[in-house]
Amino acid sequence: MNDILPLFPAGIMEHKPLVMAGPCSAESEQQVLDTARALSRAGVRIFRAGVWKPRTKPGGFEGIGTPALEWLAKAKEATGMLTATEVANERHTREAIESGIDVLWLGARTSANPFAVQEIADYLASLPQQKRDSIAVLVKNPVNPDLELWLGAIERIYNAGVRRLGAIHRGFSSYGKHIYRNPPKWRIPIEFKRRMPQIPLICDPSHIGGCRELIAPLSQQAMDMNFDGLIIETHCNPDAALSDKAQQITPDVLAYMLETIVIPTQTNTTESLGLLRQQIDRIDDELIELLAKRMRVARDIGRFKKEHRMSVVQPGRYNDLMQRRVDTGVKLELDAEFVKAILGTIHEESVRQQVEICSK
Ligand code: PEP
Ligand code: MN
Repeated sequence: MNDILPLFPAGIMEHKPLVMAGPCSAESEQQVLDTARALSRAGVRIFRAGVWKPRTKPGGFEGIGTPALEWLAKAKEATGMLTATEVANERHTREAIESGIDVLWLGARTSANPFAVQEIADYLASLPQQKRDSIAVLVKNPVNPDLELWLGAIERIYNAGVRRLGAIHRGFSSYGKHIYRNPPKWRIPIEFKRRMPQIPLICDPSHIGGCRELIAPLSQQAMDMNFDGLIIETHCNPDAALSDKAQQITPDVLAYMLETIVIPTQTNTTESLGLLRQQIDRIDDELIELLAKRMRVARDIGRFKKEHRMSVVQPGRYNDLMQRRVDTGVKLELDAEFVKAILGTIHEESVRQQVEICSK
């Protein structure tokens, strides 16, 4: 993928932070125009609005559909902003492009479905190249934390000849109650950036957080992690929104937030940062050596258990070991959940190696 074109025209890409904003759903011509005008005054250059809304349960507001495309065209004419909407099948894609939408995004439920992604890709591939080159396509992560599925959806769109490509991180569905509506699992977007460094990655704090209070801190976190931009749900009257009302903010709040957000500048590595990184490199080498040593001892234990016909997993011992390590970790200012996760992974690998020895 070394022929990727800039996602948006010059003048927009350089804008820091790069922001796409607008309501979850286009609800009325008035709502679309009021929100777009206020956002334009706040300096936002890309207007988002959902026309077709994928809803978990039937009976809710499922978007205005085709007639709303005209309102987006009017917003574009009134403000000069680029317009963006979600497409989930060939018809949406065709209608959006024919009505002059500049930016399409595939929602989290669509990118989880390779048939739907391929259907959209096939339609895009059938367009004349010039048309295709003028359209930007963003792919949200699938609802489930499956990096390969996300990368695969991007590859399908790329293989269709689309070169203005981007990705949106919107968190992952999970069961039960959490602080976040869709926990961000930052390791996945970080790994995405490592695997596809040429694809701009935009953070969607609205769908990650699910509430207004979390938009600013999540946006700051995304900037600190070097995301390329933000997509933020913004409504001229959030309390009256027909979808996702808890997470929409007003254009004024967005403008204030964008003024206060700190964008890290990529300066040259200073000498002291260089020294600190050398320390990290050494510590990581030590960690790897220690892990290797620990696994060698675990294998010796495995051989002992085999000789004495003992079972590999001894739950009493594991719980005791875990609790003592977590207590020590907490005394050393480590997070208890972090210690549990690391030890859990190490223990799982020890068990795997011991089981292999015992089954030989
Ligand atoms: C949206 O952006 O309004 C939307 C439906 O998002 P997601 O696909 O991330 O749920
Ligand atoms: Mn939404």
